[in-house]
Parts: sequence; structure tokens; C-alpha cells
Amino acid sequence: MQRTHTCGQLNQEHIGKTTVLCGWVDTVRDHGGIIFIDLRDRYGITQVVCDPDDNAAATEIAKSTRPEYVIKVKGTVRGRPADMVNDRLSTGGIEVIGNEVTILNRSKTPPFPLEEAKAEKVSEELRMESRFLDLRRPSVQERLRKRHKMSIAIRQFMDAQEFVEIETPILTKSTPEGARDYLVPNRVTPGTFYALPQAPQQYKQLLMMGGLDRYFQIARCFRDEDLRADRQPEFTQIDVEMSFVEAEDLYGIIDGLLASVMEASGHPVPELPLPRISWHEAMDRFGSDKPDLRFGWELKDLAPVFQGTQFKVFGKVIEGGGAVKAINAKGLAGVPIRQIDEWTELAKSHGMGGLAYIRVQEDGSWKSPIVKFFSEAEIEGLKSTLEIEVGDLILFAASDTTLVVNEFLGRLRVETATQAGIIPEDEFKFTWVTEFPLFESNEAGRLVPMHHPFTSVLPEDMHLLETDPAKARAVAYDIVLNGVELGSGSIRIHDPERQGQMFDLLKISEEEKNSRFGHLLNALSYGAPPHGGIALGFDRLAQLMAGGNTIRDVIAFPKNHKGIDLMMDAPSTVDAKQLHDVHIQLDLPPETEG
Ligand code: ASP
Repeated sequence: MQRTHTCGQLNQEHIGKTTVLCGWVDTVRDHGGIIFIDLRDRYGITQVVCDPDDNAAATEIAKSTRPEYVIKVKGTVRGRPADMVNDRLSTGGIEVIGNEVTILNRSKTPPFPLEEAKAEKVSEELRMESRFLDLRRPSVQERLRKRHKMSIAIRQFMDAQEFVEIETPILTKSTPEGARDYLVPNRVTPGTFYALPQAPQQYKQLLMMGGLDRYFQIARCFRDEDLRADRQPEFTQIDVEMSFVEAEDLYGIIDGLLASVMEASGHPVPELPLPRISWHEAMDRFGSDKPDLRFGWELKDLAPVFQGTQFKVFGKVIEGGGAVKAINAKGLAGVPIRQIDEWTELAKSHGMGGLAYIRVQEDGSWKSPIVKFFSEAEIEGLKSTLEIEVGDLILFAASDTTLVVNEFLGRLRVETATQAGIIPEDEFKFTWVTEFPLFESNEAGRLVPMHHPFTSVLPEDMHLLETDPAKARAVAYDIVLNGVELGSGSIRIHDPERQGQMFDLLKISEEEKNSRFGHLLNALSYGAPPHGGIALGFDRLAQLMAGGNTIRDVIAFPKNHKGIDLMMDAPSTVDAKQLHDVHIQLDLPPETEG
């Protein structure tokens, strides 16, 4: 071993001992000829002192070092004088008198300062170009270490529950998770391609058909989709599948898993079972299928208040079966009109005519463009429904489509609460959202699966598949934390006939059925057990547990918002021979040529 201790190890107990440390020069300071070096490694920082009166040669070398040089120091541990003790460091009570300093490697001046406070201000692009340097920062390392602790906790928990971790192929076939596939050309059979897995969905179902009973994997997935919303083209899922279960059993396992992950990452263990709310109720009360339960400000239905109202805008909507709802943004009565204008634009972008509001002023009076149209009874109704007080800002939404009102107010609920600064940052509020709709309509108005086409219908909604499939609910669920969707799953269809019907409902042709899903339909017809599962986004979970502003902060080598690894410069062009080998000819759009 080159070293006897790490830079985070020495303390008062080691005073008088000889030690050999290796690490990076964090800082070098010259105090009247005496050289102080803060020596850093993954474990901490130790102060090294070289005094020319004690050891001229070592001091000379120490003096010649620069930040990020890699050095080895042999020396003796000495207690620091009481007034020099640094309580912020575990090694703050000691220093090492350097008797022998060896430069193991020099470093050019880093393209950005590695000191935490300064590095945080540097552009992320610059840090990513030299990510190996960025990784030297203690905060970055700490997050990666926490992520590691989480994976250990996951494996231990799942193992104790009899789950088997199984790796599934990366070179595979397209599986429908709603994104575009990454394709890999197959040299051996010209014109054929592998797809990288968007999720191990079909493999994990096939594992259940293979009798493995309980599977999990910390699995890499690949989706070629828009990256704007803090996503990565490759990401990691905690992928789970179980046989002979109902949704209830699955909630139990994942509750336990999340509790152990919370514990492993140093957070208070939540009370179990985690709360549950149906999709319908979540949309109704919070205007979101991923409700943030750290604060109230629920959406209130005003149809009972405005039934038969003289105010035509609301009256017409209610008569037509639409929705009139509002939220009470407590304490925001004084927001500038500019802000209301912005929210009005938001309302319009959601397809509403505008945004009505009431500001409840200091003297209790209401400032609002619409209250003059309200009756006494309606005003009383509003007061009690929305629990109106001085300082409140009431924001209304009305539309013939209830979903539009819910989604808009749901968004506004989060924006206003963020603006008011009332969302507690150190709280963790989980909830299950259950009974998702089986289908949603795509832009072309066609039914597409809300989750994926292997999801089973809620037994009591089975009849709707024939009469009104758009209304059918699925045995599909999400687990949500602080307004973020952590994972989705479902109880699957295990009957080949039902799976076939589902493909028919989705208008998947006979030919496509066979070419894309033949293997699955075949396997389902050989005694497939009832089964279900879930996948949790591990990157997002790690970010929420370990801190950081984006999932890139908990990924060692993330890609930027264009899917580019700036350090490796990937993706990149390949040479003609490589293309020729895989039978590919480029046909590039004009602007990318040359
Ligand atoms: N494969 C699904 C996904 O990646 C999760 C699941 O149904 O288990 O979202």
C-alpha cells in the first residue's frame, strides 16, 4: 500500500504516529516560508505543514505544488493548538508535519475552480466537459456514495423478500413504452436491427411465465425522446415483477422498499402503509395525477355554489356539464397585476377564455372583476367552500371539459404555492395513485394505452371494453413523491385471448400482432401465471434522497439536454468502413452535411 491512512481518517488519537497520506492538493498556502497544504481524497481533507527549519527538502517540494497535483506525504501527526482547531473537519484537531513529500503527478490548471462555492457558479457545460474533475468535488462524490448506499439497501431488501435479480438483454426488440427506440444495426443479417430496451417489460413478464416468481433488476433503459424535462436518454429503473399477486401485494412490497431506501439515505422512515388515492380523486382534488401532498390548496368544485347563477360565464358551463372550480392561494392577495397577467396567459394556453380572481384586501373587501355579478348567497357559498380570509387570492377556472379545469388549476396550485414559498423542502410525502384510466386519446383522437398494452382492466370495468372503453379503469398505479412520479406499474393481462382483444382494441393489425408480440402471445398460452409489477425511476429517487438540482447530479456521466456526453463527445460520426460493415448508407438532411 502506498498510504497508511486516508485524508479523512486521522484525529487526536493518532497524535505522535507516523503516517503516509496520498491525495490531491486542494490548496497550498505560504505563511512566511512555512507551507500549508490541504490534502484531499474521497474521505476528507488533512492539513499538511512543511517547515523549512525542520525539513528544507520536503518544504521545497511542497512549495512547488499546485492545486490538483497528486502527492504523497510521509510525516508525523501533531495536535493543533486549541485556537487552530477546525471543528468543521473530522481531521480538524490535527495536522501532519511533512517529512517527505513526493509529487506523484502534476496537474495543469483546471478549466474551472473545484472549490464547491465557485464550482457551483460555473456553467454546467464546462463542468461536464471535464466531468472527471467535477467528480473530485466532495458534494458530487457524496451524492454518488448515497446512491450506492441506496442500491445496496434495495438489493438487501429485495433479496430478503425472495426476489431474484436477473439481467435482461440490452440488445433486444422494440417494446412499446411510448418513446422512440434506439436502434443498433445487425452486421450479420443485413437490414435487421436490434432495439435497445425502453424497459425490460416483456422480459420480466416472460420471467414470470418461466416460473421465476419474483424478479427485480436495477436496469438500464433507453428512450429516444424529448429531453427537455430533466430526462436522460439512458436511465436506470428499479424494475420489479411478481407472480400470483394483486395490486395490494405489490403496494406492500414497494412500501417496504421505499422505507428501507429512506432509511439508507438518512431520512425519516415514512409511516406505512403509504397513503393511496384514486386517479379520479387525485385529478379532482389536486388537478394532477402526481399530487404534491406537502401542502393543501385543494381544488374546490363550485358547481353547488353557482347552480342556476345569473353570472352567465359560470352558468352556461355548469348547465352544459362542465366544471367551475377554484383554488385559494393563501396570502397572495398582493401579487402584482403582472403576475396575474402571466397566469391568465397560462389559462389561455390551457384552452380557457381567461382567469377570474378575487383579491381579499386588508379591510376585508374583495377586489375582483367578477364579484359584482354574484348574489349574496353565492358570496356566502364561496366564503365557506374556499374558507376565505383576509390576504387570500382566489383563482377560478371554468370549462366545458372538466379535465382542462383540473389540469390548469393543478398547475396553478403548484405555481402559486411555490411563489408563496409554502412548500416544505425537507418533507417527504409519498402517495400511491391507483386506478388509472386504461386508455387515453392521442392527438389523432385514437385510443392508446395510458400505461402500456399489457395492463389489465379493473374487473368491474370489464364490460366497458365493449361499450365505452375510454371510460374503463385499469389496475394500474403510480407511486408519487412530493409531486414527482417515481414509478408506474400494473397488474398484467395473463390470458392470451384478453391480450389479443387488447391489441384489437388498439387497432394493432394481425400482422403486427404476430411480428411484434407473437412471442408474448405464444408464451401466454402455455400456462402464464397471474402477475404484475412496477418500475421506479432510480435516478429521480436518488436525486430526491441525495439532493442535487437535476438527475444529472446523481449520475456519474450524464448527458446534456441534447443527449450529448460532452466529455467523450458522444454521439459522434463513424468511419466509412464501420458503416459499410453494418450495411448502412447515410442520407443526411442538407444542413448537417460536411
Ligand atoms: N415497464 C413499465 C415502465 O417502464 C413499468 C411497469 O409496468 O412495470 O414504465
